[in-house]
Parts: sequence; structure tokens; C-alpha cells
Amino acid sequence: MATPVIVSFDTEDFIGPASDDALLRLARLLTAKKIRGSFCMVGEKARVLHERGRKDVLKALEPHEIGFHSRDHSIHPTIAPRCEELGWSAGLENLRQLELPAMRWVRDIFNRDRLLAAVPPGSNCAPQAIWFYRQAAIPCYAGGYFGARDGALYWYLGALNVPYTFYADSQCLQHDAGEVFERFSAQAGRACAVLCIHPTILVHQKFWDGVNFPAGTNRPREQWEPAPLRTPEEIERAFERLGAFLDRIAADPRFEFFDYERLLAETRRRSQIARLRESWPVSHFAHLAEGPDWTYVPHEGALSAQASFGELAARVTGDPCWRDRLSTRRLPGPVDEPPIVEKDVTATREQVLNGLWRMQAAIGSEAQGLPARWPLNGCEVGPGKFLSALVQVAQGEATVRVPAGVPEEPRCAERVGLTEWKYGAWIYKPGFDGPRNRALARRMSWTLAPA
Ligand SMILES: [Zn+2]
Repeated sequence: MATPVIVSFDTEDFIGPASDDALLRLARLLTAKKIRGSFCMVGEKARVLHERGRKDVLKALEPHEIGFHSRDHSIHPTIAPRCEELGWSAGLENLRQLELPAMRWVRDIFNRDRLLAAVPPGSNCAPQAIWFYRQAAIPCYAGGYFGARDGALYWYLGALNVPYTFYADSQCLQHDAGEVFERFSAQAGRACAVLCIHPTILVHQKFWDGVNFPAGTNRPREQWEPAPLRTPEEIERAFERLGAFLDRIAADPRFEFFDYERLLAETRRRSQIARLRESWPVSHFAHLAEGPDWTYVPHEGALSAQASFGELAARVTGDPCWRDRLSTRRLPGPVDEPPIVEKDVTATREQVLNGLWRMQAAIGSEAQGLPARWPLNGCEVGPGKFLSALVQVAQGEATVRVPAGVPEEPRCAERVGLTEWKYGAWIYKPGFDGPRNRALARRMSWTLAPA
């Protein structure tokens, strides 16, 4: 299969009018080449396009896909520091108040039923945002935590997480089209390749938000100013190179242009999880005795740690509702930190079943997610240790033993680089590190599985 290539635009500069013209030119360039671009819009950008009467831009974008790129991108406090301060539930509430109306501006101004992808502004990843956008019917989260190195796709917090794999804007500003394509072509054979392009940077010397919202500060609105423009020659050269680069991709049978909608449809079609999981032998889950992780079976599919929990609970209780109850489309991972248990815990099969029975009525709240505390033979253990007990019961053991060393954090968090992930951008206050967001993101890897 050819590698799907998405041309994704972070359409964000609501200050510099020259970026509106760059957007118009890009939309027309792609239309002329019969490529459907994916334009992820900042709400405020959509609003100013409408306010400035740019019907030409709106018209030019009609044949293209529209996504979302936050309400106002870089106005402080931005999404990540807000979520860091507010935590899970209040963070979700804050996003609902601020982002939902802006999503409506974009849908109304571009006359769309739905937005296909949400992109975090300036590395403002937060698990609350992924969950919120998915609940608000945006199915893909692009340019987030995963897959930038290898183009891998993941389900996480119910959304299809799509990486940005190639910054075509900065490449075309620096190198000629042949060299840009040469660099890009290493991505042939991957699950997907996503070109990220910022219309504004093709015409401005600097990023618009660095000028107006540097290092965690807001310039007063009346002092907002566009970033300095590039020379006309520089601009022509960048557009020419970008066009030639896209032509090379189009001519190469190893690649095929996609949009988020098609990538989502094909990824779902490829996934056979729903049909096959119930017939998987319990040996596929044996690794869960050592701690939570996704369950990946080549050619058969993948289940997140949480979905594996639901599958095993359904089997040992005979109640199929457990599969839905722990579905990662309906329930996020553990919101709270699980308890630390420093001794081995033993339990009988009945005690494990009793733990499930006692918990089942309490499960289903978004505010709690996968419960962080589970009763097991008079102790309270985290979901990782309970899952270890559960898989042993599913394997037919009458008594089970859960060693103190069984971890609570899914092992897959480390494999996908989530334990190393950092807030890298210059838009934050110096020193912003987001430890609370990062710990929450790792706990949410209970919902993580290869797509
Ligand atoms: Zn952006």
C-alpha cells in the first residue's frame, strides 16, 4: 500500500493580513493540483477572515478539509498551562467554555457539519484537550504526543492520534524542491506521513505569535502587530518550491495524497478488533500479569490496557457489558493517582470477582475515569495490580498472587516516548514544564493502542 500523505495546515495567524493572502494562494495551489488539503483553523482566525470580508479565501477553501487549531492559539494562558493549573475535571470544563464556541465559529463560517482533526497550538498538548475534542466529535488529534519519529498511528483517549512527520514549510524555505523531496522520501513505507505547513511563515520572517505573545506574556491588543514580511523574491521562491515538492510526491507511486477523513476511515476498516477479540486465547493477555500494557497481536489487532481489562472482566464474570463499560471511547484512563502498595497481595478467585462486582456500579464517570482504587482481599490496590490478579483468574487460577513490584503505569507509555515527552516551545513562561499534565498523560496511556 502506498504511504498516505496528508497536507496539513496550521492556519493560525489572526494578526497579519498577509497571512490571509498566503492562505488563499495555498488553497488555490492545492486545488489546481487536485490535492485536498487539511486546513486546521484557529477560531479567531476564522472570525477575522469573516470580519475582513475575505469571501475569496472562504470560497477557495470550499473543496478542502477543515480542522481545528484551538480558539486563540497563543493568547496566554494557553491550553497547557491552564490544564496544568486546573487538573482534569476543571480543565475539561474550561475547555468546554472556551473552545466549544470557537469550534462553532469555524463550523459556521466554513459551513461544515464537523471538524476532522484538532491540532494543539504550539505544542500545547494536554490529555484533557484530546478527550474534550473527541467528546466534541473531532475524531483525530494531529501533531500531538506520538509518532513523529516513525509515522506510527495510535488510538489514545478515544481519538486517532496522527503525527506531524515533516515540516514542509521550513524545508521549502531552506532547500530546493529536489532536496526537500529527497529528505521526505525516507518516509515511504510508513503508516502515514503528514506535511505540516504554516501559511504565515511562508510570508513572514518570524512567527506572528513570537512577536505578540512571547514567553508567556500578552502584548496589549492595541499594540498587536504583524511579524515583518519576507521579500517578494523569497516568498515566490518558497511557493515555487512547495509546488514542485508536491508535484514530486504526486508523481511517486510510493505515496498517495489523503485527508484526515480518509485516513480515519481506512484505519477503522483495517482494525478487526471488534470482530476477533472475543475469540483471542487468554494466552494473548498473559503479559498483563506483570503490569498494564496494550495487548498487540500481529495480524489480529491491538487492545489498550483498559480495553484488555474490559475483555478479561467480561470473560471471568460472563457479563459482556464489561467490554462497553471500559471502552476507551466512553471512559478515560485513571484520573487520580493509584495507591502505592508495598507488599505482595494474594486473593482467591471469589475475592477478585467480588472486587469487580463491587466496582461495576461506580464505573462510568468521566470525572473519575478508570477507577484508581480497587478492593482486593481487604486491601486497596491500583488498576494495574487488579488487572494482574484478573488475568491470573482468567487463566484458571483458584488463588492469585500480585507481587509488590507490579507497576501501575502502562509499559507502553515508555515505548511510545511519553515518559520523555517535553513542552518544547518558546511561547511558555520560562521554566514551564507541566509535571501534572505529563503525569496525567502517562496515566491515560491505559487507553493507548497501536492503530
Ligand atoms: Zn499553531
